[in-house]
Amino acid sequence: MIKHHPTSQQLNAFVSGVCEPTLALMISAHTDLCAECQAKCLKLQHVETIDAFSSPVARTPELDKMFSRITQLPQQQKTLIADSPFEGSGLSHFDIELEGKRFVLPRTLKRYAKHTGNWSRLVGKLWQAPVDLGCMGKANFIYMEKGGKVPEHTHKGSEMTLVIDGQYGDGVANYDCGDFTLLDGTHNHLPHSEADEGCLVFTIVDKPLYFTSGIARLLNPFSHLFF
Ligand SMILES: [Zn+2]
Repeated sequence: MIKHHPTSQQLNAFVSGVCEPTLALMISAHTDLCAECQAKCLKLQHVETIDAFSSPVARTPELDKMFSRITQLPQQQKTLIADSPFEGSGLSHFDIELEGKRFVLPRTLKRYAKHTGNWSRLVGKLWQAPVDLGCMGKANFIYMEKGGKVPEHTHKGSEMTLVIDGQYGDGVANYDCGDFTLLDGTHNHLPHSEADEGCLVFTIVDKPLYFTSGIARLLNPFSHLFF
C-alpha cells in the first residue's frame, strides 16, 4: 500500500507545469501507480482549467477559436489529446529484465527502458543500471536482492526514489511499490530490502551520495561513478 506521496505543494507545481523536470518525471511515474494522487491531480487540473477560462485576461477570441477547433477535431485526434499521462496500460512493451526477473514499468518510465544501460553488480547484493534521461541528466534503476543494502549515507544534494517492485526499509520507514521519497542532506539512511522478491527502485540524485559509516566511507571519492 502506498504511504509516501508527493506533497500538496509538489503536486500543485506539477499540475501547473512549474516544477523541476526531474521532479515532474518522478511525480508523473508515481501518479501512474497512485490512484489517490491521480485523483488529486485531475481535481487540480480541473481547477486550473476553470481559472484559466474564467479569467477575463486569459480568455480571448483567439483562445475561444482554438478551443472550438479542438472540440471539432475528428474522433481519433480527440483521443490523442485526451490521452492523459495517468491512464496506465495493463501490459508493458518495455519491461526491464534482470537475471530472468521481469519488471513492468510505470507508463511514464516505459519510454526510458530503451535508454537503460546494462546491469552492473555492486557490493552488498545490489544491482545498478544507469538510465539516460537526455537533457534531464541521469537516473538509475537499483535492485536490492533480499538482504541487499546500500551503505549508510547522506546526500550532498537531493535523492528522489520511486519503488517500482517489492519493498525496502531505510531505518526511518518502510516503503512499498509506488512509494515516493525526496531526501536531502538532512537525512541519513541505510536502505535495505528483506522482501523475498527484493526491491527495484528508480532513483535520481543531483549530487553524489556521501557514505557516513564503516568501510563504505572509502568509497566517497568514487560514489559519483555508481550512484
Ligand atoms: Zn500518491
